[in-house]
Amino acid sequence: AKDLGRSRFCYFTPAMQEAAEIRLRLTNDLRHALTDNQIWVAYQPIVDLATGEIKKAEALVRWQHPTRGLVSPAEFIPIAEDSGLIAEIGSWVFHQVANQVAKWRVNHHSMFQISINKSPAQFHNNSDKMADWFEHLNRLGLPGGCIAVEITEGLLLDNSSVVSDKLLAFKDAGMQTSLDDFGTGYSSLSYLKKYHIDFLKIDQAFVSNLVANSTDMALCEAIIAMAHVLGMKVIAEGVETVEQRDLLIKAGCDYGQGYLFSKPVTAEEFEKLFPVEKTE
Ligand code: C2E
Ligand code: CA
Ligand code: CA
Ligand code: CA
Repeated sequence: AKDLGRSRFCYFTPAMQEAAEIRLRLTNDLRHALTDNQIWVAYQPIVDLATGEIKKAEALVRWQHPTRGLVSPAEFIPIAEDSGLIAEIGSWVFHQVANQVAKWRVNHHSMFQISINKSPAQFHNNSDKMADWFEHLNRLGLPGGCIAVEITEGLLLDNSSVVSDKLLAFKDAGMQTSLDDFGTGYSSLSYLKKYHIDFLKIDQAFVSNLVANSTDMALCEAIIAMAHVLGMKVIAEGVETVEQRDLLIKAGCDYGQGYLFSKPVTAEEFEKLFPVEKTE
């Protein structure tokens, strides 16, 4: 093992060295990010395609770094996972989202739902305590259905009991589940059925091909029909154009999410997207 370590050291280039140093620095900075109020939650609307109404939102975590500016979750979530900080961040996000959905259920739509992302590393993290989440919902008097948990395809192939126990615990608490990035991995119908997944999220790579590629359109129609047979609703991600939206409606898609409707925004900006209530 020592030899292997030494030979690996030989291939450690200056660029890799720099990347490792940046990562180390970010890991240290991330430790203080929560207490220093640098982490916040952005919300992106999920629109009912038939009516154009905003019925749901996806919560996307943001890190406003004091010197580096906005750091992408694609960069810091893996760091949070490797350092174990993900449990703390995930729990903080959940509490924010629960407080937010309570508010939006009162002043926007009584069935409003917010989805949160939960990575496989979070499922395997020992400090990831589901009971705290359920307790928080109880304190707020909220039903589990106000939250949907977005998971990825790989998780469904993970046979460990900790994964299935947590997935079933969500279901027991009445929370819904969404399969994220559908179409990019190794989807298996049997797993969708086994865990009673509620929503299928068609990946944006797929959506962006709809207009140019008629095979993708046919596939999309087939996926949506299949999802409906299994009792799932379908959300298309990364909807950027009116053409894409119209093809998705034609294919029978239930919900759309993407820059066409809105980018992820602050909670305050999100409320401005709600229709103005008539007061007369
Ligand atoms: P995701 O869950 O697939 O989220 C969708 C990503 O697509 C978001 O990137 C969103 O800003 C972006 N997006 C939405 N609409 C459009 C569009 O019309 N066009 C394009 N090009 N992009 C669009 P974001 O916010 O940078 O998040 C990246 C990834 O980071 C997420 O991918 C998710 O996997 C992860 N992530 C974000 N927040 C959390 C979190 O709280 N916990 C965990 N575990 N992961 C998170
Ligand atoms: Ca997601
Ligand atoms: Ca996605
Ligand atoms: Ca993704």
